[in-house]
Amino acid sequence: MNIETRSTLTCPVCAQRGLEIMPVDACLYFWECPACKSLLKPKPGDCCVFCSYGDVPCPPVQTGNTDGACCSLGEPVPADSFPKLSK
Ligand SMILES: [Zn+2]
Repeated sequence: MNIETRSTLTCPVCAQRGLEIMPVDACLYFWECPACKSLLKPKPGDCCVFCSYGDVPCPPVQTGNTDGACCSLGEPVPADSFPKLSK
């Protein structure tokens, strides 16, 4: 199975595009836009910036091996029920 490890990220702030190489054994959680220096984080429910802003999802998602793999921490979290840290 071929896994595409290059993904083009598109900045949602200024639309700058940047080609990044995805590590297959780790996930990239933050990406700093080279143009406007915005520090991008994945959208709620996405495991990494490639899934949120890239044209190719991260390797674990491509292989369908998302159960406990890479940085996906259990259940995807809906945007309206983001866990509250207060206890
Ligand atoms: Zn930007």
